[in-house]
Amino acid sequence: MIDKIFSETIKILSDLIKFQTTSGASNLELIKYCEKKLEKAGATSFKTFNDSGSQANLFSTIKGKDNSNNKGIILSGHTDVVPAVSSEWTSDPYVAREKDNKVYGRGTCDMKGFIACTLAVAPLFASKKLKAPIHFSYTFDEETGCLGAPLVLADLKKRNINFSACIIGEPTNMKTINAHKGYNEYITHFTGLSGHASNPESGVSAIEYAIQYSNKLLELRDELKKRNSRKTIFSPSYSTLQIGKISGGLSANVIADQCSLEWEVRPINKEDGEFISNNIDAYAKDILIPKIKKNNPKGDIKKEVVGEVVGFNKKESSEAVNLVCNLTGDNEKNTMSFGTEAGLFQNSGISTVICGPGSIKQAHTVDEYITFDQLKKCLTMLVSLQEKMTN
Ligand SMILES: [Zn+2]
Repeated sequence: MIDKIFSETIKILSDLIKFQTTSGASNLELIKYCEKKLEKAGATSFKTFNDSGSQANLFSTIKGKDNSNNKGIILSGHTDVVPAVSSEWTSDPYVAREKDNKVYGRGTCDMKGFIACTLAVAPLFASKKLKAPIHFSYTFDEETGCLGAPLVLADLKKRNINFSACIIGEPTNMKTINAHKGYNEYITHFTGLSGHASNPESGVSAIEYAIQYSNKLLELRDELKKRNSRKTIFSPSYSTLQIGKISGGLSANVIADQCSLEWEVRPINKEDGEFISNNIDAYAKDILIPKIKKNNPKGDIKKEVVGEVVGFNKKESSEAVNLVCNLTGDNEKNTMSFGTEAGLFQNSGISTVICGPGSIKQAHTVDEYITFDQLKKCLTMLVSLQEKMTN
């Protein structure tokens, strides 16, 4: 049976790769494709959109026995992919290429491979009376700060639907992931006043303010370590902070009027994320901004939030984690250091687990691929789920 569904999965995956759904771009064509497939299998759907209507989340349901209100299971994936520079790839990133039992293409492992598996098994779920509904959730713009998922979750709350578990099929090599750190990304913009370097008093160096701000961040980073002196399930064991990019200035003899700082925090709990934000904001507001504005009303410091992805916390007893362990027969549980939508689902009261085909090492890379073996393992899990839901 897996072989038959597998060839269908490959066909669907090739179709999905063709939609160039880079984060920020429209995903409507892909959503239309998925909606059609699921409707053909007997699912009913609803969509939620971004403000301009150019992007959509799809939520589709194959009902249970007698339209039972039993709590259903969500299979969840994001439809956006990170950009690909075609010239760096061996072949067109948006045309699936099969070689050595792998499929190459942007999004194969992160995470159109999983979406293809779920679409391929949908008719199987629809062919039998289910004890509870099975739901398919496909979101937009996960890669740029999980922008789509909150809209679906708010809509589900309004519709008052209850769930027993959500499986997020991010690439984990089909291992069970029960926790990950949060991921907060920021750009801080500094505006000074340019002037001739021979008279530093005549201007305000944005770079010098960025340095003071950086020093404060590094101080706070040391605090993060102290706050978490006990061993946690993560590696590293504490919340981290990293300044990844600094840009600004023209040359040595010009006072820089602009500078920006790109930095990130990976908090092991919400409080650590808030600790950094609150402290750096207070430092900017109380110490730096009054100084940068002195003699220069246009001077300013603004922190832009690129994305704040909430962490996914380990639960003592999790229905979703138990379900996946049961389906895969693998009781090992792991943590990881990249962000997903799992924390958002968890925070809206849905028991959540991450388990999907492909390796995170392949995600976001040139010549991204997924192996046939991983797709088959995922299909095996989904077929077991279908059996569990009918027996
Ligand atoms: Zn992903």
